[in-house]
Amino acid sequence: MSRTALRICPLCEATCGLTLTIEGTRVTHARGDRDDVFSKGFICPKGASFGAVDADPDRLRTPLVRRDGELREATWDEAFDAVAAGIRPVVERYGPHSVGVVLGNPNVHTMAGGLYPPVLLAGLGTRSVFTASTVDQMPKHVSSGLLYGDANAIPVPDLDHTDHLILIGANPLESNGSLCTAPDFPGKLKALKARGGTLVVIDPRRTRTAKLADRHIAVRPGTDALLLAAMAQVLHDEGLVEPTPHVQGVDEVAEALREFTPEAVAEACDVEADVIRVLARELAAAPTAAVYGRIGSCTVPHGTLASWLVDVLNILTGNLDRPGGALFPQAATDRTPRPAGPGRGFALGRWHSRVSRHPEAKGELPLSALAEEIDTATEEGEPVRALLAVAANPVLSAPDGDRLDKALDSLDFMVSVDPYLNETSRHADVVLPPPPPSQSPHHDFAFNTLAVRNQVRYTRPAVPLEPGRMAETEILARLILAVTGMHGADPGAVDQMVIDQTLGKAVREPHSPVHGRDPGELAAQLTGDNGPERRLDMMLRLGPYGDGFGARPDGLGLEKLLAHPHGIDLGPLRPRLPQPLKTGSGQVELLPGPIADDLPRLRAALAERPEGLVLIGRRHLRSNNSWMHNVPALTGGSNRCTLHLHPEDAERLGVRDGDPVRVKGAGGEVTAPAEVTDAIRRGVVSLPHGWGHDRPGTRLSHASTDPGVNVNQLLDGRMLDPLSGNAVLNGVPVECAPAAEKLVPLT
Ligand code: SF4
Repeated sequence: MSRTALRICPLCEATCGLTLTIEGTRVTHARGDRDDVFSKGFICPKGASFGAVDADPDRLRTPLVRRDGELREATWDEAFDAVAAGIRPVVERYGPHSVGVVLGNPNVHTMAGGLYPPVLLAGLGTRSVFTASTVDQMPKHVSSGLLYGDANAIPVPDLDHTDHLILIGANPLESNGSLCTAPDFPGKLKALKARGGTLVVIDPRRTRTAKLADRHIAVRPGTDALLLAAMAQVLHDEGLVEPTPHVQGVDEVAEALREFTPEAVAEACDVEADVIRVLARELAAAPTAAVYGRIGSCTVPHGTLASWLVDVLNILTGNLDRPGGALFPQAATDRTPRPAGPGRGFALGRWHSRVSRHPEAKGELPLSALAEEIDTATEEGEPVRALLAVAANPVLSAPDGDRLDKALDSLDFMVSVDPYLNETSRHADVVLPPPPPSQSPHHDFAFNTLAVRNQVRYTRPAVPLEPGRMAETEILARLILAVTGMHGADPGAVDQMVIDQTLGKAVREPHSPVHGRDPGELAAQLTGDNGPERRLDMMLRLGPYGDGFGARPDGLGLEKLLAHPHGIDLGPLRPRLPQPLKTGSGQVELLPGPIADDLPRLRAALAERPEGLVLIGRRHLRSNNSWMHNVPALTGGSNRCTLHLHPEDAERLGVRDGDPVRVKGAGGEVTAPAEVTDAIRRGVVSLPHGWGHDRPGTRLSHASTDPGVNVNQLLDGRMLDPLSGNAVLNGVPVECAPAAEKLVPLT
């Protein structure tokens, strides 16, 4: 007898609503939920494979604990005993910073990952924090922090209403969007064109997205900031500036960018000056427009400057914070909006990494520095001696995985929260496996703050927790207790502590709907079957659409959300400035000091030209980082780890389609089969990331049959965007040669 259940898809940032068919406890089919208020039935091949992802036989079913050098199955109690016994002595002897925490990207795709890591970090008190953000989007956080005083205030393009969209370094036909949550992003681009709008794509590859564009600019990798600076210069030079209100520093930006003329940047970008002028004029002339930059413009040497310039263009053309432009979403679990006014601002470099002295950004150190923070002694400070890796596979996602591989083996103790025995968790002393997604509840805390339409949805587990499994929320709560000296306490104490602290703070805030009330009385009103649901209820009720614990009776709470299983639409994005601003001035600070100080580095880049080939990444519709390479339905065909190169480069190298090619970078060398295509610029080669499943000791039976190569092995971890600490993954110099030959630079 089959039944259906709703589940928000956790497999990419689009957060589509799915209708699952379930036989017994097994998900046998997934289709798009037509009644979902946000995704309206859209589904992609990954979502359609939800059942296969969920039922992967290689998923771990019990904890693993290392005994006599071997990872062996253990009970949950044994596993948490081992965690407490392994971590606490390190904290007590060497201090909290000697315990590193690595948070992987899947944390933003789970409810547990949204609720518990902040408590873990606060409880441990470590500054050795590393996340996937510094191999992805940290430049955007830093740019937003400096411009708006809030690193999480990221405007998103109003895809449903804009007249003119410029995408730079983004390929949403494959990714389905990133830092911009939009189910059916491809359909929204087609709708833009159908209503007479214009799509411009700036990308070194003629991607599927670029093929849809009215104008495709095949810019030289890594020069996005120069191109965007020149567009801003044209706006000023031609009197096309009509800035967004609540902005200071417009004239200062004009002066700072004065010398970045189209003629000055044209050769470096390999884009004609006249084309740059047209891009700027079209942007200014459009009734509404949005510039949107993503990973290709973030993971470059000037990633923060490029991210800043994306917003500068939106601001100079008056498109920030207006319908059809780029707007700040308002999620249902956002904190109670405070009145507009000056805030505390955003600070960078409050502390530094121990070895290379990288400044922290948003409380994090660069993932690129993780290996050296473990394997390098310094006179001051302790190395990282123990590590908690939560949904993280940095051996594949960080630069120089070989060095990190060795470094992890040298740790005193390591814990992985991971459903797989993979390239990273194989080093752990304890592996704590969360259940498959069908057995977990879901709410998107992070992605709703980036959604192109305000909405709220929550799905309870579609399938009951299998016997012997532990909910991911409980795993993380018990992990927090084990590493903070409270091992054995009731895991519900973690949720209760957060509730007490949050309500205690809310009643003291004059702008809160619960100002002056009794926190205990409010806590008694919370509904939900468990601690995580009570916390969700609390956030909803305190949030911008919430019932304020009775202050606004029509408002949101968990019970109301549960009564709307397909979600509640909260309307289109609306102008919000100046309320979201937390800068010291209470204004958008268009030329922050750290940005101005970094501009000479961009000026120096005007003269830079790569001498040989440069490497860029790429994304595939059926892939997301390293997560799904163990699912047969999502691998093979065009989703392969091949080296894309232009036919002219292939000819000069003497390489034919399918030939093995050696690729050498500063961090190492890999060999991948050539895929010759004129969709890529001359002088540029491309490898996808998340591959390299050939290390011993893993349990990824399908992935290891076609392991691919780890592109990050070509990096040595030294190329960073200095403001954000983000790794440079695009525009990286490499040398290529047929596999049988000695490597020589291509000139
Ligand atoms: S687009 Fe993303 S969220 Fe939607 S079905 Fe595909 S993987 Fe899931």
